[in-house]
Amino acid sequence: MKVSRATGALYGLAIGDALGMPTQSLPRALIVERYGELIDGFHAAPDDQPLAAGMPAGAITDDTEQALLLGRLVVTSGGKVDGRELAQKLLEWEDGMRARGSLDLLGPSTKRAIDELLQGKDIDETGRYGTTNGAAMRVTPVGIATPSTELDLLLDRVIAASAATHNTGLALSAAAAVAAAVSAGIDGATVHEATEFAVVAATKASKSGHWVAGADVASRIKWATSLIDTAPGNTPPRPGAVSALLYDLVGTSLASQESVPAAFAVLAAYPDDPWLAVRLAASVGGDTDTIAAIAGAVAGACHGEEGFPADARITVAGVNNLDLEELADQLLKVRAG
Ligand SMILES: [Mg+2]
Repeated sequence: MKVSRATGALYGLAIGDALGMPTQSLPRALIVERYGELIDGFHAAPDDQPLAAGMPAGAITDDTEQALLLGRLVVTSGGKVDGRELAQKLLEWEDGMRARGSLDLLGPSTKRAIDELLQGKDIDETGRYGTTNGAAMRVTPVGIATPSTELDLLLDRVIAASAATHNTGLALSAAAAVAAAVSAGIDGATVHEATEFAVVAATKASKSGHWVAGADVASRIKWATSLIDTAPGNTPPRPGAVSALLYDLVGTSLASQESVPAAFAVLAAYPDDPWLAVRLAASVGGDTDTIAAIAGAVAGACHGEEGFPADARITVAGVNNLDLEELADQLLKVRAG
């Protein structure tokens, strides 16, 4: 079952990312006009898509690509990656993307940090303004590779994988939340239990890194999930109502304290339906691909790869030429120590 959950986390990440590829960075009203309140599956990017024009249905974006890049480093390093090596690999990745004509390049925090590293700035300083969700979007492999019974080790590895570019309490607590939830899911947690562990990890990680003003990620995960009424026996909330709440109130921007709580709130709305959760996240507006990737990773860790339809898994693996089973297997070997 651990194998299915580890593979499920990677599939959920890739499926959520690919569902959100055509809707990313768009306002919710435009997404509803084009795809309805709930996108029905993978779509090619329309010609006016600001980041992904020309991408085919099922194509992943930077979220999955950077997560896989980090995952391979986690495997070769035995768990704790070297920040400089990660920055170098991210730079090479961006060069490759640019050569392919992509506009989906490094995000604002990572870009700034790598520019400063290249200028010779100390690696403890390069991530000091990194408050956006780039560390959280790529951190899933760290959660797969680290047992949830070892929270200090998990946080140490999250920080190692994030601080070069996102060395702020905001971004580190967001990344810790995602890694912790994924790790807990692989150890058998439900979505609700994984979210509780995410709050614990985020609270602890918020004291790490440089201080930057911004609302507390752990508190906002608790608050955002509490907005959704999921009392047993209740009818699941209507997708359009959840979307509107997240878009208008929780926030769906690149900010760590918006998009990561939004991802957990989607899961709170549909804890037992990963496919519905990722499609809702991809329809919500704003940073849809990242919100759906994070929600998908946690849902996949809690439910296993069978939580997603087989044809969605086959499409995302085929379109992007992914071997997620192989990486999941290697990450689980690191987890076993
Ligand atoms: Mg993306």
